[in-house]
Parts: sequence; structure tokens; C-alpha cells
Amino acid sequence: MQTQPKASHFINGKYVEDTNGAKIDVIYPATGKVIAQVHAATPAVLEFALASAKHAQAKWAAMTGTERGRILRRAADIMRERNHDLSVLETYDTGKPYQETSVVDATSGADALEYFGGMAATLTGEHIQLGEDWVYTRREPLGLCVGIGAWNYPTQIACWKGAPALACGNTMIFKPSETTPLCALQVAQILHEAGAPAGVYNVVQGLGDVGASLVTDARVDKVSLTGSVPTGAKVYAAAAAGIKHVTMELGGKSPMIVFEDADIENAVSGAILGNFYSSGQVCSNGTRVFVHKDIKEAFLARLAARLENAVIGDPMDPATSFGPMVSARQLDIVQGYVAKGIAEGARLVTGSGDPMEGDGFYIKPVVFADVTDDMTIAREEIFGPVMAVLDFEDEADVMARANDTEFGLAAGVFTRDLTRAHRVAAGFEAGTCYINTYNDAPVEAPFGGSKRSGVGRENSKAAIAHYSQLKSVYVRMGDVEAPF
Ligand code: NDP
Repeated sequence: MQTQPKASHFINGKYVEDTNGAKIDVIYPATGKVIAQVHAATPAVLEFALASAKHAQAKWAAMTGTERGRILRRAADIMRERNHDLSVLETYDTGKPYQETSVVDATSGADALEYFGGMAATLTGEHIQLGEDWVYTRREPLGLCVGIGAWNYPTQIACWKGAPALACGNTMIFKPSETTPLCALQVAQILHEAGAPAGVYNVVQGLGDVGASLVTDARVDKVSLTGSVPTGAKVYAAAAAGIKHVTMELGGKSPMIVFEDADIENAVSGAILGNFYSSGQVCSNGTRVFVHKDIKEAFLARLAARLENAVIGDPMDPATSFGPMVSARQLDIVQGYVAKGIAEGARLVTGSGDPMEGDGFYIKPVVFADVTDDMTIAREEIFGPVMAVLDFEDEADVMARANDTEFGLAAGVFTRDLTRAHRVAAGFEAGTCYINTYNDAPVEAPFGGSKRSGVGRENSKAAIAHYSQLKSVYVRMGDVEAPF
């Protein structure tokens, strides 16, 4: 497959290059080899993107919702037709196994385009009768939106931000992570092929400084970031200076509670999905697994046995179920945390934290048991395949411990007790909760965090509120009374 894109950026309906921008090597995580090069956006490129997106917005918003929606739904169809190629590219960009990318990335991007495409024509205001007078509301776009993505789901993030933004009549400039710059260009090209007018969806490359220039530009009305909490704090502050709208999808250290009556096999499946899918590089992962002490040894034994079945290797092989870390840097970070876990007295059940022999950024899944709440591996987001298993005996106690974190992205509970399941879900201080499952993220359901894990929600009808604003129009039917 040709991994080198036609040019670094996609602006105003075409590929754009400016080789004066700093070179960014695109590295295939499975081999460590450079597979493409792009250039960071120069001030001239950024100006072109901002001017194009600003110019395109009024015309895009003037189209009917049905027309805009048709384009988004056509883009969804094209994405599905090209699922194989898009999945291979996603695997090159991130290192995630094709077994995952072929069913999760372009497909969930297409779901977002289809869902918000279908919704575009239904976005309306309301009529409020006030005696003879009345008020009507108009649901209007915000204007020019900037999307900034993390590197773990480059296609999905580009669509989850772009689809609701465009459905509401906004235009978008999307900046992917510099680690994974390839996939968003395909999203831009597909939207253009589907009929999105020039300037409606643009992609520019670069590091954090490029994102920062976009966030502070006066023409930008909204910023939607997927990234870490420290980056979120910076971007939120910069957006606040301009009183811009924000959506912040940030990190987590989510709890998963396995009660003594849980179906152990399902709980182990949930723990595997919530810790080792995408080699653990998922924001909502349930990395603090609280297991009731009566079933702890049975749980750990099944978990260790199931992990033996992980097929670690060439991500392009459809049999491979566990790929490399996205970068050498991320591998280093994960190794550092494993070393801390060992030094602070956690018991290593599987894995060692050592990189695997050969090329690429591979590390085996790591499970720690006997983890206590104060250990670094139980407090900080690792963003890698490291599961911390903690013991508990009492529901009230485990709830307090589960919520004792600055994060609040996700949480899960495994139990056969119906009332306990809902009581625990209600008690979680987290935006996205699961009962007897983990990490499902359908476009129909709101997704996002509370506490320091984020602001706003992506997906679902809730996303519309974050990409539009209401104008109310008062209509007087009689004379205007004034005091003098
Ligand atoms: P980072 O926070 O490092 O970066 C996120 C994006 O922000 C990148 O595109 C980055 O550019 C850009 N950026 C960095 N600094 C600035 C700045 N000052 N102004 C504007 N943009 C900036 O996150 P990672 O890419 O390392 O992704 C991992 C993190 O993302 C984890 O914390 C994870 O939990 C979170 N995440 C959250 C999700 C959610 O939905 N809640 C989903 C997926 C991930 P560059 O990297 O190119 O320099």
C-alpha cells in the first residue's frame, strides 16, 4: 500500500504542500521504520486553512440540513466501501492489529457520519407562545470549529468531531496528532468526494504549537480536543481567553469493580477488553480492577490463562490480536510505570515490562495484583497494557476508593445483583459507565468524562448542543408600550 500521502495537508478541497514546514517522520510501530513524511503547517498554510474554512462556513450553513446530511451519509458509504484500505492505513498509522482496525475505526467513523448525517435535517428550533406574542428559537452553527486529535484512534476522532460539527452547519479544521497524521487526510478526501464544498473540512499537520495557533485565532469559535489532562488544561485556558466553546475529551484512570457474584468469565473478558484492546491505549480503559477477595485468585488464574491466547505479532496478520505500542516514547513511558509498580511492591502476575526482542515497539500485557490505592500505577494514567488488580470486601468501601481520583471518564461493574448494579452505576463519579460489559462506545450513546476527564459530550443527540447555539427571536404582535 502507498502510505506516503499526496501532500501533508488537505485545505479548501485539495491536497496542499509547503515543504518549509518542519519534517515529521511517520513511523510504523511494528517495524520502527519510516513509512511516510509530512511537513508541519507553516503560518502560510494555517492562514490558508483558516481563511478557507471561514469563507466556506456561511454557504455550508445556508444549505438545508437534508442536503448537508446527504453528503455526510454519502461519505459514510464511501468509508464503508473502502474499509479494507482505510483499516490497513490505520494499522500503519497506529500499529493496532488489522483484526481491530477492520471492525472498529473506519466503521465507527462511518457510523458517526451516518448518524449525524441522518440527524442534520431534524435540527430545529422551537415555538414558544406567550399570549398573542411568541418567541421562536433558531438552532444555529457556532461557526469555525477546530478539532485536535490524540494518536490512538485517528480516523474515529476525525469523524467523531467532524460529523456533528458539519451536520450543524459548522466548518472544521482538524489537526491530527503528529504521531498519526495519515488517516485524517483520508477522511477529508472522502468528505470532499462525497460533495462537501471546498473549505468545509480541512486537515493540517503539526505538533502542539500548530494546535495552539489555531486555538488562539480570533476566527475560531470552538475547540474540540481529545488528549491528555495536562494538554486539556492548556487548551481550555487558551480557548477561555477568547471565550470560545470547548469540548474536552481527556484522560482517565477508570475503575472496574468485580463483585463476588459476577460471572467470572465475562468479568475477565471485560477486564481484557478494558485493558489490552489497542494494546491498552484507550482513554476509557478500566485500569483499576477491584476484585472481591473471595474470587480474586480464581479471577487472576482465568485472566492469566486467557492472556496466554493473545496473538502478539505482525499487526497486518488477521490472526494477530495484540500489536505494538504506538511509539518508542510510549513504550518507554509504559516500561517506566511497570518498573515503578515493581519498586512500590505490587505483585507481577504476567508480563515483565521488558520490550520484546526484534523490531517495533512491542511489550507483552502486564498484570499486577496486590495493588494498593496509593501506588503510582493505581493513580496515574499509563496509557498502555498494564492492569492493576486491587482487592476489596465491602461495597461502600470500594465505591469510595473507586471514586477517589481526579479523573472521571468511565467506570464499570460486574455483578449478577440487579439492584446493586444500578446502585453502583449511579454512585460512580464518571461520565460513561458499564454494567456487565466494558468499553462499548456506540454513536447513539453520549461519550465523555466528568471531573478532570473532560467537558462536554461526543456522539448521540447530546453532541448537537456542543456544536450549535440557540438564538431566540421575540415577536410582538401588537403595539410596543414604552414608559415615555
Ligand atoms: P496529548 O495531550 O499529548 O496531545 C493531544 C493533541 O493535542 C495532539 O494532537 C497534540 O499535538 C495536541 N497538543 C499538544 N499541546 C497542545 C497545545 N498546547 N495546544 C493545542 N494542541 C496541543 O495526547 P496524546 O496524543 O498523547 O493522546 C493520549 C491522551 O489522550 C491520553 O491522556 C488519553 O486518555 C487521551 N484520550 C482521550 C480520549 C477521550 O475521548 N476522552 C480518547 C483518546 C485519547 P502533538 O501530539 O502532535 O504535539
